[in-house]
Amino acid sequence: MVFEKLEKRIIISGTIEAVTPLHIGSGRSEIEVGEVDLPVLTTPDGQPYIPGSSLKGRVRAEAERIARQNGAEVCKPPDVKEMCGSKKQSTDEFCICCRIFGSAGNISLASKVKFRDSYPLEKVETLLERTGIAIDREKGTVAKGALYTIQAVPAGTKFSLEIVAENMSGEELKLLKAALKSVQDSALGGSSTRGFGKVKFVIESVRERTAGYYLGKENEKIMAGAELQRWLDMI
Ligand SMILES: [Zn+2]
Repeated sequence: MVFEKLEKRIIISGTIEAVTPLHIGSGRSEIEVGEVDLPVLTTPDGQPYIPGSSLKGRVRAEAERIARQNGAEVCKPPDVKEMCGSKKQSTDEFCICCRIFGSAGNISLASKVKFRDSYPLEKVETLLERTGIAIDREKGTVAKGALYTIQAVPAGTKFSLEIVAENMSGEELKLLKAALKSVQDSALGGSSTRGFGKVKFVIESVRERTAGYYLGKENEKIMAGAELQRWLDMI
């Protein structure tokens, strides 16, 4: 079905800017003495980055909320048993979010959208460290050993952004664009309740490539400037 042919590939390029400090954690649970309790995820050379999977997870979550509000029936990841791949008989019955972002289960479906890992455009010299107080969620009181340190990328840091979408229907592309806009008004990463994680996506170009392009028969279509703005506004 959709993956048998390459009809159209859309490459969305630009930057992600941290408007407020950004904490994308490693998800580690064990902490050694003297370490930052909640470090940011870094590359082997110590630079912070945003894994494509983190960005995809946030964009998918916003897409699900928007689609539901718009009256669509949408399954409930991340529990595989609750996803279309487990609950539906064929991919034709999958919800719009599984069609865009993929589904696991008895019937698995690959994502039509790839989010590349995002790296800083310039070397990040210093990371912020903030101290927080851990609250016992059940009692609503300050927990034992309550102080912790959270690391974050400073506001103003810019990261690369590349999203590649294949064979998307008009409706699917609209939802993807709407979800990207919604993430900007929500947050990315941890500690959003203390104001972390506000980000801005700056889309600088959109390229459309077909099978004919790769065979050297057609030119790619590059959108920038006013045309790009119209494309981004088409929701
Ligand atoms: Zn689904």
